[in-house]
Amino acid sequence: MKGFAMLSIGKVGWIEKEKPAPGPFDAIVRPLAVAPCTSDIHTVFEGAIGERHNMILGHEAVGEVVEVGSEVKDFKPGDRVVVPAITPDWRTSEVQRGYHQHSGGMLAGWKFSNVKDGVFGEFFHVNDADMNLAHLPKEIPLEAAVMIPDMMTTGFHGAELANIKLGDTVCVIGIGPVGLMSVAGANHLGAGRIFAVGSRKHCCDIALEYGATDIINYKNGDIVEQILKATDGKGVDKVVIAGGDVHTFAQAVKMIKPGSDIGNVNYLGEGDNIDIPRSEWGVGMGHKHIHGGLCPGGRLRMERLIDLVFYKRVDPSKLVTHVFRGFDNIEKAFMLMKDKPKDLIKPVVILA
Ligand code: NDP
Ligand code: ZN
Repeated sequence: MKGFAMLSIGKVGWIEKEKPAPGPFDAIVRPLAVAPCTSDIHTVFEGAIGERHNMILGHEAVGEVVEVGSEVKDFKPGDRVVVPAITPDWRTSEVQRGYHQHSGGMLAGWKFSNVKDGVFGEFFHVNDADMNLAHLPKEIPLEAAVMIPDMMTTGFHGAELANIKLGDTVCVIGIGPVGLMSVAGANHLGAGRIFAVGSRKHCCDIALEYGATDIINYKNGDIVEQILKATDGKGVDKVVIAGGDVHTFAQAVKMIKPGSDIGNVNYLGEGDNIDIPRSEWGVGMGHKHIHGGLCPGGRLRMERLIDLVFYKRVDPSKLVTHVFRGFDNIEKAFMLMKDKPKDLIKPVVILA
């Protein structure tokens, strides 16, 4: 079978591989829609998690089951499924500790395009199908459905990590597709005022549609000053970081009140250390909590997100700005994610 792969750091291309076979609990899935992720760009072009050779890329897919192992109970060939970006080994101590994302080691629940071939192949392998797949209702279009495996779960997790409560004033730093879902998540969790930090007009417009009340352009001056000015010097209750770099944490710490939470879902591709400003961190005693996490995966999380879409609480299709058709266009969609033209939020490739 054919797949679009990371050949080595900085290099991508098409390769041929054996079609995968399922173990007793596993499934083989044919993708019906896929999307490239900014994380793939960090992985390939920044070498952020180290060298990978001839690894098929991609971790955002909905698909059709083509084969299942002898022990799979709830899925059969022909079923349409949402495949989470994170597909943990559920029989691990990390799961018992409450962190399935790290089953088997740090970040090891993230398998596709990290430790095994991803979803940009004609077929891909899903471990523990009954625990890691979710049925896709026929009413949800593929373009919207493929925003569930990563964009919705990650953006919403940013809002969860920031521990947002009713009436909180929240700042979401970064409003690409992930941050836009954090804005929607903050809105659903009951935030009062929501600042959205970005620069591209299209992203700002969609942020307002998802519930942002104020837009801050980081290219118009220091965002800390802009936030403090807009809040009469008080700052915000919660911050979600979904963009920026290692320096963004200092800004978050400076703009947040004591007794507060910062939730980071940004994948830090570069830099050795994160600076925390000593004084604004309450000289170590400010109760300004910093959380950072990989998005939740697995079946139950997907089923809950599917409900949010099915019952029209969230419309993730607003994220989709570019739709391609056909397997060969995966490369074009992938390169768009690298180049980030002004009108791009998220490209999708339909393979059905
Ligand atoms: P995008 O690149 O599309 O969006 C990044 C956003 O950050 C844009 O709004 C951009 O502004 C803004 N931004 C860039 N620089 C700054 C800055 N210096 N200060 C403030 N804002 C800034 O990324 P995605 O939304 O696709 O992904 C966001 C991050 O989430 C990525 O690092 C990705 O790898 C990561 N990720 C993490 C996952 C997890 O499980 N934790 C899963 C999936 C993704 P603009 O473009 O408007 O100028
Ligand atoms: Zn991703």
